[in-house]
Amino acid sequence: MQTNHLPRIVVIGAGFGGLLAARSLANNPVKVSLIDRRNYHTFQPLLYQVATAGLSPGEIAAPIRWIMRNFRNVEVLLGEVQDFDLARKTVKLPDLEIPYDYLIVATGASHAYFGHDEWEPFAPGLKSIDDAIEIRRRVLLAFELAERQSVHGDSHSPLNFVVVGGGPTGVELAGTLAEIAHRVLAHEFRSIDPKRARIILYEGGPRILPAYPEDLSQSAKEQLEKLGVEVHTSASVTQIEPGAIHVGETRLLAAVVLWAAGVSASPLGKKLGAPVDRAGRVLVNPDLSIPEHPEVFVIGDLASLQDKQGKGVPGVAPAAMQQGKWAAHNIERDLKGQPREPFNYWNKGNLATIGRAAAVADFGKIHVSGFIAWLAWLFIHIFFLIGFRNRIVVLISWAWSYFTYERGARLITGDNMQLPGWTESQHESPEAVTAGSADRK
Ligand SMILES: Cc1cc2nc3c(=O)[nH]c(=O)nc-3n(C[C@H](O)[C@H](O)[C@H](O)COP(=O)(O)OP(=O)(O)OC[C@H]3O[C@@H](n4cnc5c(N)ncnc54)[C@H](O)[C@@H]3O)c2cc1C
Repeated sequence: MQTNHLPRIVVIGAGFGGLLAARSLANNPVKVSLIDRRNYHTFQPLLYQVATAGLSPGEIAAPIRWIMRNFRNVEVLLGEVQDFDLARKTVKLPDLEIPYDYLIVATGASHAYFGHDEWEPFAPGLKSIDDAIEIRRRVLLAFELAERQSVHGDSHSPLNFVVVGGGPTGVELAGTLAEIAHRVLAHEFRSIDPKRARIILYEGGPRILPAYPEDLSQSAKEQLEKLGVEVHTSASVTQIEPGAIHVGETRLLAAVVLWAAGVSASPLGKKLGAPVDRAGRVLVNPDLSIPEHPEVFVIGDLASLQDKQGKGVPGVAPAAMQQGKWAAHNIERDLKGQPREPFNYWNKGNLATIGRAAAVADFGKIHVSGFIAWLAWLFIHIFFLIGFRNRIVVLISWAWSYFTYERGARLITGDNMQLPGWTESQHESPEAVTAGSADRK
């Protein structure tokens, strides 16, 4: 196909939004360049399963080039976009400039430490496959180090796993960690008792899952507690140091601290020169373009848009996918000389998983908790996994671990066999620390 004279559409980011935009534009008389800094698409809703050794990275990721293999007018480019020249209509990579007629920016979001970036090495967040592997390393290593410390009958540093933030990611991490400690590893160690590990969730607000109706927040708290998680609400973590956290006046030793408290938009958003909200998300027009640049669209987690009722479109995969489709739809309308149409988010329901057979689902007037919600979560998420092979593999892995309590991806990778603050905490008196600890209230 002769493509030189065709409109060139550059899509940055092959996440949920970017992939749907590129797919929707495929088979149109346009040339699409899909650029991502990774060569794979990550199915983020299942990252917590990689972080907790339930699934392997390859089961929740797929090569972008493979996903796009049948779309002849889509080229896939590996590279990190660093800037734009909106006047000249080009995107800038370190060694390359790519011109566009239309631009769709879909670079998502990452974690935010509320101005405390120095906490990141002690409390990793979960956004990428690399993050998930690092969290898995820390969690499994904590049990190994405790077993080694106890081999001569000595006491070990406290096996406290702290999750900061009671949104969906914090809740699913805490619930699954409890399952690992209390069921999966329960009988595999000889000197320590993994069942005595404590999983502690801190949420600064008055309830966990604040975006869900109150009855589901309450149900989620009860389901977590049933799994053995200690849930503390209205409890803000004020300081994180190697191997310990502070909640108000209380300091608590923590073998592993996980950060699930804040989100900030991709830094590329600010480079577009359009207004952004407090989280750095670009305030887009109803047609998803940015002010003064109708040829530039921003979608997904990077975009900030209110629906007709004044409610913000949430940062979830279905919203990003719908916006990807809609940006493509408006470009098609431009090319046909038709007026653009405003985006409307169709909320089909919100589901949050908590752990084994535990979840909550908000379908508007219908609220569901427990096993049924969990089944709904499982099937919906597996259905949306990219790639047929992945769906089958994930379903089999999941069914296997459900019935056997095995978590087959328990690999500690890399050479780093240290945890921040672990060695130091061995010399601290556990009594002194736990006596005044927040969890004993
Ligand atoms: C742990 C976790 C669990 C979640 N669970 C759920 C869930 O259960 N249900 C749900 O609906 N949503 C869930 N979400 C949210 C959902 O994943 C996001 O809303 C969705 O991924 C947003 O899609 P996006 O296309 O905007 O961005 P992303 O999917 O984040 O994709 C952004 C892409 O841009 C690329 N990129 C970033 N910067 C650059 C750059 N400078 N140059 C080139 N490429 C770049 C990235 O590599 C990435 O591929 C979860 C998110 C996380 C982190």
